[in-house]
Amino acid sequence: METQESLPAIEALEKMSREERQKYLDGRLRDLVAYAYEKAPATKARFDKAGIAPSAVSGIKDLENLPILRKDELVELYNANPPFGGLVTVPIEDLERVYVSPGPIWDPHHQSETFWRRLVQLVKALGFGKGDIVVNTWAYHLVPAGHMVDEGLRRAGVTVIPMGVGNTELQVQVMHRLKVTGFFGTTGFFMNIINKAEEMGHDVRKDFNLKLACIGGEMGGGPIRKLVEEKYGIATGDAYGTADFGFIAFECSEKTGMHITEDVIVEIVSPETEKPVSPGEVGEIVVTPIDETYPLIRFATGDLAGIIDEPCPCGRTALRITRLMGRVGDAVRTRGMFIHPRQLQPAFSQFSEISKCQAVVTRPGHRDDLTLKVELKSEEGVDKEKLIQQLSKTVGDAVRIKVDRVEFVAKGVIPEGHKLIVDERVY
Ligand SMILES: [Zn+2]
Repeated sequence: METQESLPAIEALEKMSREERQKYLDGRLRDLVAYAYEKAPATKARFDKAGIAPSAVSGIKDLENLPILRKDELVELYNANPPFGGLVTVPIEDLERVYVSPGPIWDPHHQSETFWRRLVQLVKALGFGKGDIVVNTWAYHLVPAGHMVDEGLRRAGVTVIPMGVGNTELQVQVMHRLKVTGFFGTTGFFMNIINKAEEMGHDVRKDFNLKLACIGGEMGGGPIRKLVEEKYGIATGDAYGTADFGFIAFECSEKTGMHITEDVIVEIVSPETEKPVSPGEVGEIVVTPIDETYPLIRFATGDLAGIIDEPCPCGRTALRITRLMGRVGDAVRTRGMFIHPRQLQPAFSQFSEISKCQAVVTRPGHRDDLTLKVELKSEEGVDKEKLIQQLSKTVGDAVRIKVDRVEFVAKGVIPEGHKLIVDERVY
């Protein structure tokens, strides 16, 4: 693989034309495949099993011939061939740390330059740099999140306070006294700290120097982010990553989807056919990071998103992915289209007279049937016919499938903590 010195600068890559990026990534992919085939026995086995020679991968377009690699297969590989399932290209003694993720999977912490520089790119694009003091509340033990964010921030020139999770009172003190400018962690934990600060008598706007909180990563964080920005005057940022391959997408200042970082290939595929979906369609995120130490080629994340294929005003030319639309297992394929809870939720929430709503897919005869079960807050003053029409149209537009009927149900029929879509088909 190329050495650090021969890598083109990220700043140059960020402005590449589509053709230049394609050519660049095709080249990087060829090198990665050849290297991984030679150094990672599990990769060799995958290619051999699929009957594909490494030389047959001339670029991204050839990736779809290789079956995707799922997380449960990863666990099987780790179990069958300790310690690293034949997936890591260096011996354990060459690693700086080894994390313990559920599975168990032993995630390697290594120094591949392509891995770290995309994290630095992400940190800078979010808006952090020299002069920032950032509290990192991701966990520092077992899993990679804490150390990974820590190292990315430090490499971008940021001063890091390694808080980890918990100790909310101390978190408030630290933020206040050290004039902390940024936060990394979950949305829920950030709100715990903000609530604790108010409880302790602080005025968050006046007493704190917080300018940016990277609090993405949780489904449905939108309304909370709005609250953080409007009520407390703290900008929010979002990034996407997993323990397996690190961070691979980030929000720029435009906040319209997440740019894919450089040196990462992302495909959006149908979970059924494993082939790329048509542009604009939602599918599963499949990732091939250029990472010579831990080359996961066509790794399926289980997360659903779409590609935004329009130029971004920020000037970065990398494709963007939409916010996550849910997990593959949560989506219900109905009349050829995937329906995701994340598509339903904003549609349902437009109707203030509804207390609960659930989409139910059944199969009377040989056709998928989409029913919306609705629980009203109160029957009083509700024009049911009008509501049926409006709800059917709003939901139909959101999921791109016609709603067959709307059914009003009594209070309590839809349980608390219900799923937004259930599959009750019997074949
Ligand atoms: Zn942008």
